[in-house]
Amino acid sequence: MRGAIKAEMSELNSQIPAHATGVVVVDLDRIAANWRALAALVRPAECAAVVKADAYGLGATQVIPALVRAGCRTLFVATLDEAVAARKLAPAATIYMLDGIIKGAAGAVREAGVIPVVSTLSEIAEWAELSTSRKDRLPTALHVDTGLNRLGLAAKDIQSLVMNGHGLDRLDVQLVMSHLACADDPGSPKNEQQREVFERLAPLLPTTARSIAASDGLMLGRDYHYDLVRPGYALYGGQAFQGGATPVEPVVEVHARILQVRDVAPGQTVGYSATWTPDEPRRVAIIAAGYADGLFRHLSRQSGGDGGRVAVGGVIATIIGRVSMDLITIDVTGIEPEPRPGDLVEVIGPNLPIEAVGSDARTIGYEVLTSLGRRFHRIYRGAES
Ligand SMILES: *Cc1c(COP(=O)(O)O)cnc(C)c1O
Repeated sequence: MRGAIKAEMSELNSQIPAHATGVVVVDLDRIAANWRALAALVRPAECAAVVKADAYGLGATQVIPALVRAGCRTLFVATLDEAVAARKLAPAATIYMLDGIIKGAAGAVREAGVIPVVSTLSEIAEWAELSTSRKDRLPTALHVDTGLNRLGLAAKDIQSLVMNGHGLDRLDVQLVMSHLACADDPGSPKNEQQREVFERLAPLLPTTARSIAASDGLMLGRDYHYDLVRPGYALYGGQAFQGGATPVEPVVEVHARILQVRDVAPGQTVGYSATWTPDEPRRVAIIAAGYADGLFRHLSRQSGGDGGRVAVGGVIATIIGRVSMDLITIDVTGIEPEPRPGDLVEVIGPNLPIEAVGSDARTIGYEVLTSLGRRFHRIYRGAES
């Protein structure tokens, strides 16, 4: 087992430039397989893919074409810049833009050829006005708030739409959607409460298709699938759902380089602010990855405290002292064979899933993914890459 890991690491090492401080390995075939597994689970509902924030940090340029080849026809992004990039990568896809129309941006949204998910009466008015001036019925998605109190039309806005129209009849409403607050917890009564509000409000709108579920919501069962589900995190191997395993596999590994290995004597300290002092002699490896590479500073460990971990040849080693911008220090005392400068250590991978790294850093796997180092070398596996 350990020999196999060592062979794997030296093969990976041979695939990256000698100067690379670390490597992010993204498996595009796995992302495609995850999408297919979720699509099969929700059929006959359609499975879209959320590719906002550069496909959760994994690289929209590579991920979007892989999803399209897998059969995905509908994408969700957050911002207009993301929408423009997605349109180039997926000319035939339906692309929804979750942030909607920022005041004054309707023209640019239309030019991008994407569908804004609108949440306010003033967005509807601006989009309807453009529809009129272009003698068109512009495609629109309506976001209904059902209790998250983030984006979405409130019940009173919907009453106002029913009474006054606000130009809605000049729009081509293609989707009515909402978003769940507690979908990761199947025991939360909030899920069913939100679904009931959706059942009451959605029919008041011109509805062709409906959607309420993201990665966790689609695990709550058929009642939550409606016509379309919108997973993001699960496509990228995320397992936030607390009610059982989602049918997806991890897609990303991160490995960083050892720069130096040194001895630290009792009474000496390691790192900024001297927060870690060993009681006995320790062997310490210095790794070329820090908070600028997505290793959160909350992974720091003071003597006797909690903190982050990495894996060295399959063996867990603790991060000691402060995480700094470009470096972490880890305790490799007793690890055989002795780690050496140039070796790679696992930051995310089979021993350290994104959820574990997230909980070590007192955050969630989502933030681990979207913070992944831009300075690391990237390798894309699979799908014509
Ligand atoms: C980000 C987002 C999603 C995807 O959520 P995941 O938990 O990553 O599946 C779906 N819908 C909306 C409105 C979102 O903001």
